[in-house]
Amino acid sequence: MAVKIIAEECIGCESCIDACPFPGAIVMDDGIAKLTDKCNGCGACADACAVEAILVEETEVKSGIDINDYKGVWVFIEQRDNHIANVSLELICEGRKLANELGTELAGVVLGDGVEELTKYCFAYGADKAYLVDGPVFKDYRTDSYTDVIVEMINRYKPEVVLFGATNNGRDFAARIAVRVHAGLTADCTELGIDPETKQLMQTRPAFGGNIMATIICPNHRPQMATVRPKVMKKVEPDFTKTGEIIRVENSVKEEDVTTKILEIIEHATKMINLSEAEIIVSGGRGIGGPENYYLIENLAEVLGGAAGASRAAVDAGWVPHYRQVGQTGKTVAPKLYVACGISGAIQHLAGMQTSDVIVAINKDPEAPIFKVATFGIVGDIHKVVPLLTKKFKELKEAN
Ligand SMILES: Cc1cc2nc3c(=O)[nH]c(=O)nc-3n(C[C@H](O)[C@H](O)[C@H](O)COP(=O)(O)OP(=O)(O)OC[C@H]3O[C@@H](n4cnc5c(N)ncnc54)[C@H](O)[C@@H]3O)c2cc1C
Repeated sequence: MAVKIIAEECIGCESCIDACPFPGAIVMDDGIAKLTDKCNGCGACADACAVEAILVEETEVKSGIDINDYKGVWVFIEQRDNHIANVSLELICEGRKLANELGTELAGVVLGDGVEELTKYCFAYGADKAYLVDGPVFKDYRTDSYTDVIVEMINRYKPEVVLFGATNNGRDFAARIAVRVHAGLTADCTELGIDPETKQLMQTRPAFGGNIMATIICPNHRPQMATVRPKVMKKVEPDFTKTGEIIRVENSVKEEDVTTKILEIIEHATKMINLSEAEIIVSGGRGIGGPENYYLIENLAEVLGGAAGASRAAVDAGWVPHYRQVGQTGKTVAPKLYVACGISGAIQHLAGMQTSDVIVAINKDPEAPIFKVATFGIVGDIHKVVPLLTKKFKELKEAN
């Protein structure tokens, strides 16, 4: 969109400046509003202008492709050592709904070495087809080999929608694929839908620090691409009696063309319970007071058979590694039990854990916002409460 200010109509009231979400995009010049190069054409100012001195014009973007050539919904099936990431199965279930609304087919895209067995999971969770890319060069995830083959496939088969898990791998190569195929990518979606009139994919994600939910469309380019975080979409019960078509994909990727070689995989964080998959999570925030106290969180998590998480404040302070962060810029989790210790309950933290089945909050401030989402709240000092809980659960475990 293009925004234009009609100087003769402007009365210099500055309401456009108040309405503009981008500081410095509109300035006053001799009592008249003037756009700067910080304007991104969102048009928020036009709605605020009482004297209709601001015009918003649609600009036509030509992508050079016929979007009608693109059909079908694809889900990238992420696997490691032949185990499918849960998020891929969640996305197959979500993709099924989108494909039904579009009246099109749903396909899983399976890459790996000796992974044909995995196609049955695609069908069990709702896919009509599976594209199978099988060979030693795809054994482990590598950015270039995986990007090259998916780009080849998109150019050959022309899917309308492609979904990826917002995992380390998904985040790494989905953006690269989007650039290569001249499409956009909406990262970290929390909701997907189909516009009933235009049939475009509506990709919703938090924006402006989680203060608004933005719905993004991609009207002129294909495929429409999105990443979705683990645990945001719900999985249905699989039906392993279902079958579908397997399309074996010929491709031009050769080992000698791949610039990275995997020499050794050192298992470290993976040996611990994965935060995204954990059924019980105990998280510590700034209220733990320092890195030397994080053991309190780890001890409680261990006795409950769960994983230890953290708020961003604890991570930013350098007390806890980033892979433990829960929230908008960390992991999205939905365990059966989430224990928040010394965490205030900022919206960005809640965005990553508020769908947990049971939330227990421990905080010394009875007014802390975390208590608004908590199933059970304990007002108290975590340095006293957490060791008591750990001791009690240990005793109960030993007694059984
Ligand atoms: C774009 C953006 C993205 C963000 N992403 C994330 C994210 O992914 N995850 C995230 O967590 N945050 C995120 N944040 C930061 C978020 O806004 C908060 O700053 C952060 O969650 C606060 O962490 P906290 O609750 O540990 O700390 P604080 O807000 O400082 O809260 C500490 C709490 O501990 C309590 N407390 C203190 N001492 C004790 C004690 N001895 N016993 C009991 N309670 C005690 C206090 O009463 C307080 O409620 C993001 C922010 C932005 C702008």
